[in-house]
Amino acid sequence: MKIQNVAIVGGTHGNEFTGSYLAKFWQKNPKLIKRIGFETKVVFANQKAFKNVSRYIDRDLNRACSLTDINNPNKNSHEDKLARELNSKLGPKDDKDKNCDFVIDLHTTTANMGLSLVVSDESELTWLSVSYLAKEFEELKVYRWLGDEEDGYVNSLGSAGFAIEVGAIPQGVLRADLYLKTQELVYKLLDFFEKFEELKDSVKREVSIYDHVALVDYPRDINSKLTAMVHKNRQDRNFQKIKKGEPIFMTFDGKTINYEGKEELYTLFINEAAYYEKGFAMCLAKKIEHKF
Ligand SMILES: [Zn+2]
Repeated sequence: MKIQNVAIVGGTHGNEFTGSYLAKFWQKNPKLIKRIGFETKVVFANQKAFKNVSRYIDRDLNRACSLTDINNPNKNSHEDKLARELNSKLGPKDDKDKNCDFVIDLHTTTANMGLSLVVSDESELTWLSVSYLAKEFEELKVYRWLGDEEDGYVNSLGSAGFAIEVGAIPQGVLRADLYLKTQELVYKLLDFFEKFEELKDSVKREVSIYDHVALVDYPRDINSKLTAMVHKNRQDRNFQKIKKGEPIFMTFDGKTINYEGKEELYTLFINEAAYYEKGFAMCLAKKIEHKF
């Protein structure tokens, strides 16, 4: 497990300003992310979407990085081309000898997720990093999610990595507190990599995580139009339990729809703006102790 190349990716989603402005700031101030023993590069993933203040131009770049899509010559949208460029910078994904040992992909969410990591990778380096950060940041929450389109994440191009998600923050908006939190988390991770040989054996090989179970869509009519919204009692309650019989949605005429699942699970990414089009209102997860 050798760390030689680390990449910080910002602007994967053009309307998520925290990562976009941090990436631009670090491109101008590379000394701040320089550490002994490895190289750190900053990649601004989607300039065109950033200028447009939109998540993407043609398709979601953070779902476009599967091997099937990268190797499909008929995929030629703006983001398909970006995914291929990113693959040569950070991957290649199907090559053991990759250009990047760890990818930190910076995101924000309109859901009240606080400071969280989305992990979709099983590598030892990823989990050592997650466990280390969880100890350093008491409020940090970890969500293991294989995604709605498996393995299409930008951070899946490198050997290890994860996405940082901070919120709640509207699209196209900066918030100093979340900007600083993201920055602090990245610096802490780079410091960990710098002292990796010294610290790795002391990292606990167990970490509390929220493990993905299911996606819950909004109630819709036969034309797929929304017929309800997230219930006020569920709004903002990320990483909190939901029990059978508790309100989950409210119809436009004010009727409550209750959660009918038998299992007590935790709700995450509640009311994330970008997920209306993806067809889910929240994610359900179970809390487990993940050993690695
Ligand atoms: Zn994002």
